[in-house]
Amino acid sequence: MGNAGVGERRISRRRFLAGSGAAVAGLALAGSLARRARPGGRAWAASAPPSAPEKLVPSICQMCSTHCGILVHVRDGKITRITGNPEDPVSRGRLCARGQAGLQVVYDPDRLRQPLRRDASGAFRPVSWEQAFREIGAKLAELRSKEGPQALVWLTHPEVLASWEQRFLNAYGSPNWTPHAPTCYSSRNVGWLATLGAVPSGDYANTRYYVSFGRGINDGISNPQVQGLMTARRHGAHLVAFDPRLSGFASLADEWVPVRPGTDLAVVLAMIHVLIAERLVRPEAVAQTVGFEELARAVAPYTPDWAAEKSGVDAATITRIARGLAAAAPAAFVDPGWHGPQGGMYWNGVALTRATACLNALLGNLGQKGGLKLPGASPLPDEKSLALLQPIPEAPKLPRFDGAGGPEWPLAKGMGRAQALPEVIESGKPYPVRAVVVYHTNPVRAYPDGDRLVRALRKLDLVVVIDHQMSDTAWTAADYVLPESTYLERLGPVQVSGGNLVLPQPAIPPIYDTLGEDEILRRLAQATGLGAAFGYTLEEYNAALLAPLGLRPADLAEREVPLPVRAPAAAQPAALKTPSGKIELASSAMVQAGGPAVPVWEPPLVEPDGGNFRLITGHVPMHTHTSTENLAYLHALMPENQLWIHPSRARALGIAEGDLVEVRSEVASQRLKAHLTEGIVPEAVWMAHGFGCISPAQRLAYGKGASDAVLTPVRSAPYSGACAAAETLVTVRKVV
Ligand code: SF4
Repeated sequence: MGNAGVGERRISRRRFLAGSGAAVAGLALAGSLARRARPGGRAWAASAPPSAPEKLVPSICQMCSTHCGILVHVRDGKITRITGNPEDPVSRGRLCARGQAGLQVVYDPDRLRQPLRRDASGAFRPVSWEQAFREIGAKLAELRSKEGPQALVWLTHPEVLASWEQRFLNAYGSPNWTPHAPTCYSSRNVGWLATLGAVPSGDYANTRYYVSFGRGINDGISNPQVQGLMTARRHGAHLVAFDPRLSGFASLADEWVPVRPGTDLAVVLAMIHVLIAERLVRPEAVAQTVGFEELARAVAPYTPDWAAEKSGVDAATITRIARGLAAAAPAAFVDPGWHGPQGGMYWNGVALTRATACLNALLGNLGQKGGLKLPGASPLPDEKSLALLQPIPEAPKLPRFDGAGGPEWPLAKGMGRAQALPEVIESGKPYPVRAVVVYHTNPVRAYPDGDRLVRALRKLDLVVVIDHQMSDTAWTAADYVLPESTYLERLGPVQVSGGNLVLPQPAIPPIYDTLGEDEILRRLAQATGLGAAFGYTLEEYNAALLAPLGLRPADLAEREVPLPVRAPAAAQPAALKTPSGKIELASSAMVQAGGPAVPVWEPPLVEPDGGNFRLITGHVPMHTHTSTENLAYLHALMPENQLWIHPSRARALGIAEGDLVEVRSEVASQRLKAHLTEGIVPEAVWMAHGFGCISPAQRLAYGKGASDAVLTPVRSAPYSGACAAAETLVTVRKVV
């Protein structure tokens, strides 16, 4: 089906607008502020009298998970702009475009403004918070007694209040708290945890030799890491990008090495081969590990020539870069990965992460300047130690709906397999799921095969979406849409960011009838008969977290230009959190899960045959997932995505620059414009993630570009259960 189909099947835009009455006034047809804001997006700034004193409110950006320190400029009760907090070590006073555009989350004229309930005709009608909580709570309580607590699944991102959500689920009795991990980082986490017991970061600013396998660090921007790499570059570091696409990082790197998609593993295995065969591994690096001999035997056949055949990267390049890493070690590292090949785009993501971990281990870079570093221990007390939060609901012992953490997916514990939801709903196995709560994520346009997911969600007794905007998921499947206050209007939990304690605090009160997630959870719990689990407010929670450190929330909040409060130094762990206490080149956890002890070659799941393409996708610096395409500033920077296709393949298909093309996979088709570029390997096509909005309530984003997620079939990669979205084959044709 095409881009706009799903939403229209149940409720047309005309019906939505006609039927929603006052809801529409709150949702789509905004007040005077919003009407003025649409054309240029500057009305709130222009409307402030220049003589009004400006207030600066320090907080943290929540336009992505990096959480840069910001200063929110407020004049006459309106946010006029957001700048980076120069005192914050994460942003160092610099924000990306999304961070600067954050005020438009507040003033987006299409923003949700009051709770909505879908009526029997399919239209959304306004409903009071009291009525919404009463009805949802009654339904949840009924389901719990009739079907059992496991019938509730909670889908979430970005997990700012994860422990509160888990507490709600624990009190309810459901094991099904489910983050977005399988669409993002599952394989990376599984691979690193099996090898190192933790997911490390890099010392980007001080590295002398940096290699990325598909990490689009300048695309899915992590502000401090980008700044660090640019610092390293100024100091003469050598930067290498292995990527099938000329990504933002590849265009800045010293070397862009195009690699066949899904074959990064072959290159990394061959680099390990070179280090061992040429005796470039220092004894002190080997001494930190277990399984060196086993690894050496395993990689013996993986010569650079072997890898060249698999990956399309010539053997001399592989050898040279391996030697370059070794010469710069320990101030050298291969990026641990995040979302891309290591994160779970491919079938072999866990093997690639494990190989990446082994290669880094042989460089001896753990804990070294310019190498990898372990995450520090949090200075905040364990929640369980806070008397305020008693009684603590026990985590339920029931199996999860998706099997994560169970016998089949032992290593996916804590990350879930959200993509299993349609199948579970359709089959009723392992048990019926009857209700889903969706917090600030958009699975219909972020998880695989969105059309199937919509059909499945519509079979449920209850779907509740909590968001700022009428997401595709809300539009197509929600029974209730609960509007959340934005991060600029609500308090957040005390966090550790950049080695500092930070307090996400409101710059202005909510401008509409919205609530913070903390209040939504508290009142939902009360309405469901679980109020005892939330006998405290977020203010009290923050105070309890800080009290053992001798601090009060006001200590973090009161300074207009804050001096960040240093978190107490964490004690260095005596040993790594692996069974052996060492870096496990040979991993006992992998063996227990039925995998190979050391990383070995595993091919990608699918291979294009010359008549089709592998679809690969990724992030862009102007947008975060599906949440920002309707913001005027960011929409102006990038209103739609295009299909990157190599000119040689395009010519053979009669496709010219800007032509409308249809991309068809085994599960769906999408239409978007073609972009001919030699910045993509011929066997693949690429599109940016996040577009193809099917919610007409998002008037700027609606119908722009195409959704990559809708095209991807539901898959679960070995060991991690990652979605392996790049294991998707598509055909491309010009639309005539
Ligand atoms: S990287 Fe950009 S969007 Fe993310 S927190 Fe920093 S400023 Fe905000």
